[in-house]
Amino acid sequence: MQDFVAEGGLPYRATPFWLSLADEEPEACARNAHGVPVDPILAQALPSPAEALGSPLELRDPLGEAGNTIFERAVRQYRSRILVRATGQCFLFCRHCYRRALLPSELHFLDEAAIAALSEYLAVHPEVREVLVSGGDPLTASDAQLAGLFGAIRSVPRPILIRICTRAPIVLPARVGAELVDLLARTRPLTMVLHINHPRELSAPFLDRAEALMKAGIPLHSQTVLLRGINDAPDILIELFSTLSLRGIRPYYLFQGDLAAGTAHFRVPLSRGLAIYETLRKELSGLELPRYAVDAPGGGGKIYLPEGIVERKAKSWVLSASDGSLHEYPEEE
Ligand code: SF4
Repeated sequence: MQDFVAEGGLPYRATPFWLSLADEEPEACARNAHGVPVDPILAQALPSPAEALGSPLELRDPLGEAGNTIFERAVRQYRSRILVRATGQCFLFCRHCYRRALLPSELHFLDEAAIAALSEYLAVHPEVREVLVSGGDPLTASDAQLAGLFGAIRSVPRPILIRICTRAPIVLPARVGAELVDLLARTRPLTMVLHINHPRELSAPFLDRAEALMKAGIPLHSQTVLLRGINDAPDILIELFSTLSLRGIRPYYLFQGDLAAGTAHFRVPLSRGLAIYETLRKELSGLELPRYAVDAPGGGGKIYLPEGIVERKAKSWVLSASDGSLHEYPEEE
């Protein structure tokens, strides 16, 4: 793993495997007028001057997780599920990450007290049916650390679905060895949601590991962030989602970019995202088509698009969340 801290921002980190998926060498790659690499693999990994530009609309915590925190690293935004940020470590620090401001301060794995707090909370909240194990990337932790966390969840005497949110099989397929597959299989009911943004990420080693996970009974889903200059073209997304579906990985979500500080250069105007999605709806089958969604800025949960649109104003959209609350999302250039 290559690792160094870029001054004043999200650290740079990428695996040699991830960089091998690029068509160019990182040191000499072509960059656009804002200094962002043109190659879709390098654009997700290499810091650029555009990250310092910021926008007054952007937030450090764009999903409002702080306001929904129930105890250290645990977020409850929905009645039936809890999200746990197991670690701030990632094999690849994605430049568009909406938790980019949080990760550097949460690099250690959950400690024993936090894990105990989780199982105690689950024990007295029977309405919680699912725990999302996120981060960072939880698979940066050792198998022993993961087994400790899973064991605490499984100590609660009712079935709870564990959802692992990860990029590990894509950016470091070797992490998904036989021992990890076995641990995950023993921990079922467990499902995995893979963050995948471009067809170039569907490498042979990744597909091999995905096959191993599915053979072990782990259902795989994908989530994709709509990213300017990386995948904001229908033909790229059609190739991505149809290939995923063919391989047995269910395209689950296509996310409109969150208003995370330093990511304006990646966001696609919502009007354009809606036009792209309209094309996807025509070209993809129901099995291949993910749901298009945006997280309400500052909290409020997921809003499906275009269903959640209430009104378009001159420079923003009014969106309605599932609880009926209204939220504004900007129409950017
Ligand atoms: S792997 Fe996930 S948590 Fe880590 S930087 Fe990328 S998007 Fe963020």
